[in-house]
Amino acid sequence: MSDKKIVDKQYQIEDTEHSRQILEKAMEVAMKEIPKGHVATYIPELGKVDPNQLGVCFYPLKGDKICIGDYDVRFTMQSVSKVIMLIVALEICGLDNVFRKVGAEPSGEAFDSLVELDKNDAKPYNPLINSGALAVSSLLLPEVSFQDMLRYTRRVCSDPEIDLNRTVYDSEMATCSRNRSISYLLESKGIIATDVEDNLKLYTKMCSMNVTADSLANLANKLANDGVSTVDGKRYMSSITARIVKTLLLTCGMYDGSGTFAIKVGIPTKSGVGGGLLAVSDKRAGIGVFSPALDAQGNSIAGCKLLREIANKLCLNLFYDPEWDKKIEEETVITNLREHSVM
Ligand code: GLU
Repeated sequence: MSDKKIVDKQYQIEDTEHSRQILEKAMEVAMKEIPKGHVATYIPELGKVDPNQLGVCFYPLKGDKICIGDYDVRFTMQSVSKVIMLIVALEICGLDNVFRKVGAEPSGEAFDSLVELDKNDAKPYNPLINSGALAVSSLLLPEVSFQDMLRYTRRVCSDPEIDLNRTVYDSEMATCSRNRSISYLLESKGIIATDVEDNLKLYTKMCSMNVTADSLANLANKLANDGVSTVDGKRYMSSITARIVKTLLLTCGMYDGSGTFAIKVGIPTKSGVGGGLLAVSDKRAGIGVFSPALDAQGNSIAGCKLLREIANKLCLNLFYDPEWDKKIEEETVITNLREHSVM
């Protein structure tokens, strides 16, 4: 493929009609994955959600926003809120204070795991798993109220309608024994130094904010543009914060599926058990997806498929190589990885 052709392909996302066609096709392909997944049931209210929903919002830095399917359906942010807590903690507590409490390494374990935490010097692997986010929220607790966090979330997601879903919040608070266990363990190690129950409430309220795929695309768009809105030109976080967040999304955003997702899709992404995906194609586009049926790792099964499709077709993979257009080559690579138990 000539250099000119590569450049053309990379800028095709500004062609709204072309992107829309690719998104519509990707929706069709992704829809077929839904029956293979299950909605989360460990938070009883989430078990009542209709699994057959799929929506996407694609918001390029240049060009028009494209929204398809259930893009305006409200769902709870769940773990995607860990991104917002991390942004605010980096901004107001500073990088050193945050990374004194949590690491910046992938965990390779389930999102709510306690397994490694009891080791002597262990701190949570990263801010995007439950233990890490509980540590981050305990840093925030003396500094901000939930109302402050809600206000910032509405601004950074450009969505004044975001609110607390009280039903989901109550449902999770009544069943959060694992997060409570993690919290008391972290308190015993001096990582949580604030009131454990108040901290659990803040963390769980953040998880229970009602967003849409559209609001996630707005946040992702700002992250892709290094923290600055493409609409009003205002800065919503420092560029170093945006950079740290994007790096952690790539390495840790999809729990113990992060490595495989990075190979298959190559777009820094954060998932939540409510079915949301916040995907940041750096300098190019923000993407929000909603589809509540989850895979074994707790990531939206159709959402991941949709991102994989558009990563390939719109050349959004961070490590995009035009040669990968040869489908046969991709299939060979995937087969090899499967044989070596990588996927
Ligand atoms: N509120 C959920 C929990 O703490 C969030 C988990 C997730 O979205 O992965 O278990």
